[in-house]
Amino acid sequence: MARLESKIAIITGASRGMGTSHARRFVAEGAKVILTDLNAATGEALAQELGPNALFVAQDVTNSADWARVVKAAEECFGPVNVLVNNAGILGAMAKTADIGEDDYLKVIAINQHSVYLGMHHVIPSMQRAGGGSIVNISSIAGLVANYGFPSLAYVGSKFAVRGMTKATAVEYGPDRIRVNSVHPGFIMTPMMVEATNEEGGDATSLIPLGRIAEPEEVTNLVLFLASDESSYISGAEHVIDAGMTAQ
Ligand code: NAP
Repeated sequence: MARLESKIAIITGASRGMGTSHARRFVAEGAKVILTDLNAATGEALAQELGPNALFVAQDVTNSADWARVVKAAEECFGPVNVLVNNAGILGAMAKTADIGEDDYLKVIAINQHSVYLGMHHVIPSMQRAGGGSIVNISSIAGLVANYGFPSLAYVGSKFAVRGMTKATAVEYGPDRIRVNSVHPGFIMTPMMVEATNEEGGDATSLIPLGRIAEPEEVTNLVLFLASDESSYISGAEHVIDAGMTAQ
């Protein structure tokens, strides 16, 4: 049996990188998936390719009205939502605390942190109508430690916040059978990683005990598990997928 049979899932940032990988696998595992992203052309094409169980809705994850529109479209097309993957995010300006401008700082906080509040805020009532659900918030190893590589305090701060918001919401909504978990990837080969390492100019693999950068599909395996009923007793927890980077 498909592992996401009867799941109706929203995945943000689905037009490229890990979001695309999650969307492909979720549909293959029997879910009905609402893909959202700023990049409508690529998202529409992907949804088209994935067939009738995929719907693309253009969305800025920092916009509350956009979230209301996404949930409405999901319910009208497929029914109440029982999986939310808050995946959209940016690395933002790579600058030290005294150098990063306020606008750059606030942009990262808006896209990486405020969006996670908005997503959970808008989707939880739909999950309550569905009788429960699973929220997967994509944080980072930068939500656990700050002493590697290039992220700014804005990225680190936003990803630490996602971890705390995950726990708060998991405790509040356990009685509604809504599970909430955070995922903490290390270095994953996506457009974001390519842009970051080009700018940084360093050899990212030297920091990784397994000696290689992961493919997006390796993170999808974990997100799929957390979205499915296979993780039925797991909530409020951090799930690290970093080839041992934070064990150092
Ligand atoms: P990516 O390749 O840059 O993809 C992110 C997607 O999010 C893009 O399609 C982007 O659209 C979209 N997006 C950005 N801002 C948005 C907004 N305001 N509203 C809607 N969509 C927006 O990134 P990724 O590497 O797959 O990262 C996915 C998540 O994993 C992020 O939360 C990231 O912080 C986290 N993460 C990544 C790594 C890594 O090594 N790659 C490691 C740890 C954590 P545009 O292209 O149009 O901007």
